[in-house]
Amino acid sequence: MSFKVLFEPGKCQGYANCLIEAPEIWDFDDSNDRAVLKVENPEPGLRSKAEASARCCPAQAIRIEESS
Ligand code: SF4
Repeated sequence: MSFKVLFEPGKCQGYANCLIEAPEIWDFDDSNDRAVLKVENPEPGLRSKAEASARCCPAQAIRIEESS
């Protein structure tokens, strides 16, 4: 099933846990110490990695949502 990644940059504290869990989806902007969402609609095979990145974000800046 397809899904999308929702990111609230304003909440990001720059821990980079998301990047460690899912480098295919996240990048990091060193200039402002915030994550960058590279892929908003990742392929279904990346679902568990995307969920891990949301779970591991201490700032709760990431959510996963079903998409059609
Ligand atoms: S884990 Fe959360 S707080 Fe840390 S860089 Fe990623 S989005 Fe930002």
